[in-house]
Amino acid sequence: MMNAPATVTFNPCLDCGACCASFRVSFYWAEAVSLGLPDTVLEQASPWHACLRGTNQPAPRCHALQGEVGQSVSCSLYAQRPSPCREVRAGDAQCRKARQRHGLPALAAAEAFRCESG
Ligand code: SF4
Ligand code: SF4
Repeated sequence: MMNAPATVTFNPCLDCGACCASFRVSFYWAEAVSLGLPDTVLEQASPWHACLRGTNQPAPRCHALQGEVGQSVSCSLYAQRPSPCREVRAGDAQCRKARQRHGLPALAAAEAFRCESG
């Protein structure tokens, strides 16, 4: 009897990364501390908020993003990525806005799932 074919998971984030290069990624300092994020990847956004280095500028690009947007990317902070990174979902409104900014086609709603660009 043949084995059932292995399940293949399509992850559009791995050849995208647009949301990591479109927005300021800010969150409470307390979260940065609890995640153990090093100071080298952070900037001060307000007395209470940190942001990921590289995202607080007119052409944002998180310093943790490796690779080429729209080609092949990974996140060097994946295990420690903060809540804004975990909240965006492939195919949601923020994803569509980021992909549009980088000239990438919108994903169908059926492709919506948690962002795993790292
Ligand atoms: S959530 Fe959307 S914009 Fe972000 S990496 Fe995934 S596909 Fe790209
Ligand atoms: S998922 Fe990784 S590369 Fe993208 S913004 Fe968050 S920390 Fe930066």
